[in-house]
Formats: sequence, structure tokens, C-alpha cells
Amino acid sequence: MTNSQLKKFCKEWQKRLRLQDWNVSVAFGILEDSTGLTKINPNFKVAKVIIDEEGNNELEITLVHELLHLHADPFSQDLQEKYKTNLEAMIELTARALVEAKYENNK
Ligand SMILES: [Zn+2]
Repeated sequence: MTNSQLKKFCKEWQKRLRLQDWNVSVAFGILEDSTGLTKINPNFKVAKVIIDEEGNNELEITLVHELLHLHADPFSQDLQEKYKTNLEAMIELTARALVEAKYENNK
């Protein structure tokens, strides 16, 4: 996937997830221990998403996962450690379901 394709996917999913009021920049990068990372500034509705494409053939799911973190951000901050795994699982399963639904609907 090229950088411009990634940006196009980001615009598309911002729209699908009703995140058009956010200023999201997305780029490929190298990450230590995850496939995606998002830095969020909720006050200005600004987010920076990094996607590591090394060995990742589910880039669109990773992108949607990271974008869903914007919706989860207000209740992610003070979340107890024991619930963080549940939140990650919920985001990941939702991202997968949404991407699957997109391609099922396009059949
Ligand atoms: Zn996550």
C-alpha cells in the first residue's frame, strides 16, 4: 500500500466512523511492539496515526482499529489496568467486523 492509498483509506474511514471533525494525519512508520499507534490530542481533535506495514497484511483493519481509539479516548484515560485488555479486544473485534461488513456489502 502506498502512502496516498493509506491517506485515502483514512479519509474514507473517518467518514464511515463519523470522525470528519478530527484532523487525522496518517503515515507508515516502524513500531517496536505493535502494528499501529495513535497519538491523540482531544482538546484540538488532532490525531497522529502510525501504521507499521512490516509483516502486516491487514493494514485496513489496523487503520480502523486506530481510528476507533479516537471514539474510545474519553473513557480510555482513567481506565483501570484490568479493563485495558477488554477495551483493546472490543476495538479490535469491532474493527474486524466493520472491515468485513464493508467488503461483504461490496460483493
Ligand atoms: Zn489499540
